[in-house]
Parts: sequence; C-alpha cells; structure tokens
Amino acid sequence: MDLQHLEWPFLSPGHRSLAADYLAWTTPHLAGLAGDEGGDGRAARQIYEMLAGAGWLTRTLPASTDRASPKLDLRSLCILRELSAYSSAIADVALSEPWLGILPIALFGSPALRELYLPRYLSGNLLPAFALSEPGAGSDAASITTSARRDGNGYVLNGRKTWTSNCGLADLYVVFARLEETGGIAAFAVDGNDPAIRLEERIDVMPPHTVGTWTLDGCRVSRDRLIGEAGQGYKIAMAVLELFRPTVGAAALGFARRAMDEAVERSVGRTAFGKPISEHQLVQAKLAQMAVGVDASGLLVYRAAWEHDEGRRLTPRSAAVAKLFSTETSFQIVDQALQIFGGMGVVKGTTVERLFRHVRAFRIFDGTSEIQHLIIARDVLKGRA
Ligand SMILES: Cc1cc2nc3c(=O)[nH]c(=O)nc-3n(C[C@H](O)[C@H](O)[C@H](O)COP(=O)(O)OP(=O)(O)OC[C@H]3O[C@@H](n4cnc5c(N)ncnc54)[C@H](O)[C@@H]3O)c2cc1C
Repeated sequence: MDLQHLEWPFLSPGHRSLAADYLAWTTPHLAGLAGDEGGDGRAARQIYEMLAGAGWLTRTLPASTDRASPKLDLRSLCILRELSAYSSAIADVALSEPWLGILPIALFGSPALRELYLPRYLSGNLLPAFALSEPGAGSDAASITTSARRDGNGYVLNGRKTWTSNCGLADLYVVFARLEETGGIAAFAVDGNDPAIRLEERIDVMPPHTVGTWTLDGCRVSRDRLIGEAGQGYKIAMAVLELFRPTVGAAALGFARRAMDEAVERSVGRTAFGKPISEHQLVQAKLAQMAVGVDASGLLVYRAAWEHDEGRRLTPRSAAVAKLFSTETSFQIVDQALQIFGGMGVVKGTTVERLFRHVRAFRIFDGTSEIQHLIIARDVLKGRA
C-alpha cells in the first residue's frame, strides 16, 4: 500500500512511523484474512486479542490519565482503521467495535470504572459493546425506551436493544437507558454475564459484524455502574459517536484505496480490443475519479482528526463531512472498481465483491448519510433559519 498521503503536513513524524510499523505488522498478521469471517464473532475476537497482544490498543485510548483532559490521538485511530480496513474488513471490525464500546468509560467513566475496565480492554480480556440502538429508535436515538428505575442504591434496567455489535459475546455492555425518575438518559456499564441479559436473535448482515437483538429483563446495577452523571447519557453517546465518525471515514478510505489498487492491477493485466483496458480512456476516467475521491476523502478525514488533536474542538460539522463524504465516495469507488473487473467483479469471494458488501453498511451506522446531511445543514444554517 502506498503511504504517500501520510506525508501531509497535518500528520507528524510519529504518525508516519506508526503507519509504517502497523503496515509491517498487518502484512503477516492480517493480510491473509478474507474479511468475511464475521459469523459467530470468534474471528473478530481473536484478532482483537492479537491487536491487544501486539500493543496496538494502547494507541486507541487517551495517553493521559487526567480525567479533566483525556487526550485521545484521533489521527492514530484513523491510521489504524484505514490500514486495517485496507487489509481486511474483519480486522477493522475487531479494532473499531471494542473501541466504540470502551470509549464512554475511557472518556466519561469514574476512576473506579476506568481502573476496572481499561487494563482488561488493553490486554485483550474485555470485549466491550456499545448499546444505544433499539427496535424503535435508530436514527432518532433520543427516543430510546429501555428504562432505568431507581431501586435502593442502584437501578433496574428493562428493555430491548438491537444492532449491538458483539452482541452475545461482549463482556461489557455500555447500555443507554431512560431514567424513569426524570425522563433523561443515563449510560450504564453492564456485565456481559449478567443473568438478566438474554440474546434474542443474531442478525445476519452483509458486513462481518456480529450483531443482534437482546433484552434486559430486570437487570440490577449499582449506582457506581453509572458512566458520568445520571441524565448525561445522551450527551455521552453523541460525543462518542462524533469522535467515531472521522475514523469510520478512515476505514471507508482504506476500502477505497484497496479497491483502487485492485482496479489498477486488473486494468493493466486485462486485455480487450487488442490492448490493456487501462489504455481505454473510459477506464482511465474511472481510475482518475477514484484517485480524486481517495485524495479528497483522506484530506477531509485527517482534517477532522487534526482539528480534534490540535486542541481545537472537533466540530459536529467536520466530523459529519468526513464521515459522509468518505463513506459515500468509498461506495462509488468500490462500485467503479467492480465495474473494471467486469463479470469477475460479481464473483462471490473476490476482493472487489467482498469490498462491495463490506462498504455498504458504512453509509448507515454511526448516523446514516441522511443524518450527516442534517447535521451539516444545521451548521450551515446556524443563526439564519
Ligand atoms: C452493521 C451494523 C452495526 C451496528 N452496530 C451498532 C452498535 O454497535 N451499537 C448501536 O447502538 N447501534 C449499532 N448499529 C445501528 C445503527 O446505528 C443504526 O442502524 C442507524 O443509526 C440507523 O438506524 P435504523 O437502522 O433504525 O434506521 P432508521 O432510523 O429507521 O432510518 C431509516 C431510514 O430513514 C432515514 N431517516 C431517519 N430519520 C430521518 C430524517 N430525520 N431525515 C431524513 N431521513 C431520515 C434514515 O437515514 C434511513 O435511510 C449498527 C448498524 C449496523 C447496520
């Protein structure tokens, strides 16, 4: 993989050496994975353990333990996700979904919760999951109905969650629930082995995610399982998803780069009408459009991450722009790559066919493309409408 884009001025020498080291590690460890090994989630768990064993997960948490200003290096996360996705979709799932699950605790958890969970996450012994979506509340996450009733020194949780990645496998669920007392939302750290949790069904999806629907039936949690203050849960969920967005864009960028590399190789090697198809101008136009899309996505993704890291706040707008543009563009690039492969592009199990299935969900999770449009338009119209 060409790492030239990492020469951009908003990436430091440290980022460049992270990319080179990680790429060298992914080649023997991840490159052989097809990326389809989703299923029961065991493959993703093994990769997560490998990532932990090799120490890569330390780059996914704030370096400082100072809770007042946890400093997460989002550019490192984008690099790890881009290069993982380039290798294999399942590697990206194995890296990103546990990270999404641990972030609420890393950024908003009490010192006790952080001491309990962060070392286990870093050593690959804790698979965390992020449980916000419900059958009746996806894009409109503020309308969740899972309830939290005060009971002595704790709460009792009841409800149904769906689309939870690592559902049925997670050791820890970060559950967002509505407080019966106030109507606000709170985030709770719920033990994956809690007997009040029941897996209802696995959902068989196109990308290698292990997702499903599950219930909490009278799940008792003590007050010290609250993440942040009661009533802060929605803010926590939105802050975490916003941080996640540039990294989703980075993973989509990894898919796009891989699709482009595959298409270039194919176009040079495949002959039609007496010459390599790369010499036909309509094929060249596709390759050129891919190159433009890859560059533009990279600039927007790493701009958003740079804004975050350099102390200026990551704005909802730049996070949404990075996610929206990169995921939509990646889908187009993968589609064009598949077209360049002709019939071979739709043969099940080929790299471009897999990329086509894997990239599609990126336009849906972490806020659909429509929701990203709303976030951007709200900012464009701020103070005007
Ligand atoms: C593979 C995968 C993994 C996931 N992992 C997780 C996870 O780990 N944890 C978790 O909590 N959730 C997870 N999700 C859920 C994901 O976040 C939701 O699917 C997403 O937020 C969309 O919600 P929905 O599916 O209910 O669609 P809906 O909200 O029902 O939306 C349906 C359609 O209506 C559109 N729409 C809705 N509102 C508007 C509006 N105001 N204006 C215009 N259009 C609108 C949407 O854009 C979409 O096109 C995952 C989903 C997938 C597919």
